[in-house]
Parts: sequence; structure tokens; C-alpha cells
Amino acid sequence: MAKQVRVRFAPSPTGPLHIGGVRTALFNYLFAKKHNGVFYIRIEDTDQNRFVPGAEAYILEALEWLGISPDETIGKNEKFGPYRQSERKELYKQYADQLIENGWAYYAFDTAEELDKLRSEAEAEGKTFIYNHTNREQLSTSLHLSKEEVADKIANGDAYVIRFKTPVGETLHLKDIIRGDIKFETSLLDDKVLYKSDGMPTYHLANIVDDHLMETSHVIRGEEWLPSLPLHELLYKAFGWEAPEFAHLPLILKPVGNGKLSKRDGDKLGFPVFPLDWQDPTSGEKSSGYRERGFYPETVVNFLALLGWNDGTDQEIFSLEELVEKFDLTRVHKAGAKFDPEKNKWFNQHYLKLQSDADLAKAYQVILKEKGINAADAYVEKVVGLIKERATFVADFYELSDFFFVKPTEYDAKALKNWKEDTSDIMKQVSEVIKGIELFEAKNIEEIVKGWINEQGIGMGKVMQPLRLSLVGAVKGPDLFDIIEMIGKDETVERLAIAVEANK
Ligand code: GLU
Repeated sequence: MAKQVRVRFAPSPTGPLHIGGVRTALFNYLFAKKHNGVFYIRIEDTDQNRFVPGAEAYILEALEWLGISPDETIGKNEKFGPYRQSERKELYKQYADQLIENGWAYYAFDTAEELDKLRSEAEAEGKTFIYNHTNREQLSTSLHLSKEEVADKIANGDAYVIRFKTPVGETLHLKDIIRGDIKFETSLLDDKVLYKSDGMPTYHLANIVDDHLMETSHVIRGEEWLPSLPLHELLYKAFGWEAPEFAHLPLILKPVGNGKLSKRDGDKLGFPVFPLDWQDPTSGEKSSGYRERGFYPETVVNFLALLGWNDGTDQEIFSLEELVEKFDLTRVHKAGAKFDPEKNKWFNQHYLKLQSDADLAKAYQVILKEKGINAADAYVEKVVGLIKERATFVADFYELSDFFFVKPTEYDAKALKNWKEDTSDIMKQVSEVIKGIELFEAKNIEEIVKGWINEQGIGMGKVMQPLRLSLVGAVKGPDLFDIIEMIGKDETVERLAIAVEANK
């Protein structure tokens, strides 16, 4: 029987979740669901210096909002719990010890000052200091100390770290589902720290131990972790464990220029790079999120899915269910994917149109209430039905439909240029015609008004344009006769009178 697919999203709670992290979570989710597997979340909080309160809750809330919640995580089906690494702290030391026992790791007692000195000496010679096979025998390591000397130092309270003893002169032939075969020379790697004397493992050790214990079948993560792949594969070998399969997702690139998409690009061009609003608990700095900007979760899922993946056709609109069905890791590209904030709006326009008028009306009512406008739900629902085609966000609604709720307070200056000598008189006559209409429905109003215009032999534009201007205040909005029906006879007549008075 094939191994069960178990994949994980393993964020470090160091701040709000960048949209790139959300895509990693999404691809893991899609892969898991496609293969009837398990998607779990493990919080990698071993670096206490970078821990940010609230970040963990933020991550889980963001995924819930997007509809891609994990099957297992903190407080949910904790089959391999705890799912927070800080709570697994006691577990890692034995694995670090095991590597020392079998010769895959060693103690290093160098102090921070000593290492700083070595770094600046190397820098002065235009080199970068790397801790590895070229110098580890000369440095303050257990490699040239007896077991007793090491035990004495530790008993003495000397601070230490445990480093991986990277093998020398081997070529590693590794596989990545997206990138194919990759070669790494072990001699170029440094001896990474695995464990610190403060009792905490580093990312590398904790990540491998947990991926093994939590039976992870595939590691799907960002390209920035590709340089860690050789160490990770070597760690599996050192422990004698079967390694999971790996897939490193392409970078998400800036909309303009080169390089990785950053918060600064978002600030500069006015789009969010986070799923939800966030306020940094220490600095108070605020970052805006897709949810609060009025994007739908469906939009975010859809545009993220297409950052580095497509199904081989031109199809761009995908529901989550469809993505689960079609997603294929081998179709993920190697090359970075450009972030396109304009295209993201286009997706939102699409998903906004798919919302029911009742739901949109409910969302719009919140804005109307804030403006002190009391309108019946049924009326707002009708308004929404007339304008939603033109909106990207619910926040656009008022600009598109204010005239359904309030009289115009000014008239578009450019359009007013067409208000000629005889316009006021024509408007007065139209007002009379409208007053006389019994069946006050758009179609009937249109027939009668247009019939009258034809009878009079006045040009359509000469009537219709100032009529719209009088009712709306600008040359915008949906069909004029729908507007007239909606605001009603009395209001129409009143607005015409005001316009005539104002533009005499
Ligand atoms: N904790 C790492 C991160 O913050 C996880 C990397 C991985 O998936 O191995 O992205």
C-alpha cells in the first residue's frame, strides 16, 4: 500500500503571514486533499528571540478565512502532538545526542566573541568565514577533546552548541519534484548548529525530527529553503530515516522590477501582501490585509493558485474544489511568479458578481448605516443588483449608487456645459410627463418618456443627458429608467425641480 500523504505547513510565528507563506499553505492543502491525505500545521517557535505574540493565532485565522484549515494542529486531532515545537522541547536533545554518539555531530564551545573575531578577520581579507571541515579541527570543538574533557566543560557550565559534522568530498544527488535532479557538493556546506545549550534545537534539527515523527510524506515549501535541502537529506541519512519527498515552490516576484515580493512593494503600489490586517504588538506598525480590503477568500485562493501553477490550459477561474481536483505538483514551475495586483482585482470583480444580491446588500448596509442612511433591505438588494457589474469591492458601491439614497448636491461641471437655454424648460415638461405616469415601472416609464421625446421631435440626448444629470448629479449610473423607478415618482419630480432651480 502506498504511504499515506501527510504534508505540513510549518510557519514560524514571527509576524503576520506573508502572502507567499499563504501560497505554501494552499499548495500543501491542495496536494493533501487531492491525494486523500492529511494537511497539518506545526508551529515552529524554537527561536524565542523572534517570537511575536498573536502571530500564531493570526496564521490559523487566515487559513480558516481562506477555507484551507488544517486537519491536525494545536487543539485539533493532535495525533502526533504537541504541534507547537516549544512544547516538544524535551524531545530534541536525545536526537542531538544520538548524532554525537554516532559521529554525525560534535560540540563546539566557541564563544560569540571568538566567532565575531574570526568573522571580522575573514572579512578583512575579503573572505566569508564559514565553520566547516576546513577549520573545525582547529576550533574549540569536541573533535579534538576526550570524552572526559567534554563532560568536564559541560559540567563546568561552558556554553556550547552542537554542530552537524558535514561529510567531506561527497556529491549529493538529490531530487525535487519541481526542480528535478539537483547536485550539491558537501565540502561547500557549513557545519550548521543543531542544538544550543539554552536547551533549544535550531530549526534544522527540530524540523527534521518532527517531519519524521509526524510521518510527513512530502515537504512542500518555499524556494528559500532549497539551500537547506542537502543538510536535511544528510540529517535523514545520519538518523537512518527515510527522507520525505521534497518540492520547493518558486518565489513570488515583485510586480515591477526584480526580486522577491516584499511588504514595501505593497506599500508603494497600494496593495496588501498579507491575508488579514495586522498590527505589530511592539512597534504598533500596521499592515493591511486582503480580507479587510474587501477581497473574497475565493479571490485570494484563486490568484495564489496561479502563482507558479496552471492546469495546462488558459483557464484562470478555479474554485477551491476544482483546484483540489486539478492540482498537480509536477505542473508547478521552477521560475519565479510575478505578482499582479491589477489581475487580483479582476479576480475579485469576478467573485463579487457571484455573490448573491442579498449577501452583497447585507455588506452594503454596513456602509450605508455608517453614512447615516436608513434603507430597506429589499431596496438595497435591488440597487446592488443594478450596480454590481461595475464594482470590484463592496466599498465601490456607494460611489456607484449614492444617488439611489441621496439627492445630488452638485452637478458635474463638464456635463453642465450641455445645459442649454431651453434645457430647464424641457426638464419642466419631462417632469410633467413623468408626473402623469400611472404604471411606475422602468419599461413603461421608458416607453412613455421616449414616446414623448419622439413626438416633440427633440433629440434624445438633449433630454436624456440633462435628465440623468438632474437625478444623478453626473453622467454615471445604470439605466436611467431603472433609477427613476427605484427612486420613485415624487423624488424624480423633486430632483428635477431642484436641478431646474439650480441651473436656471
Ligand atoms: N519554519 C520554517 C518557516 O518558517 C519552515 C520551513 C520548512 O517548511 O521546512 O518557513
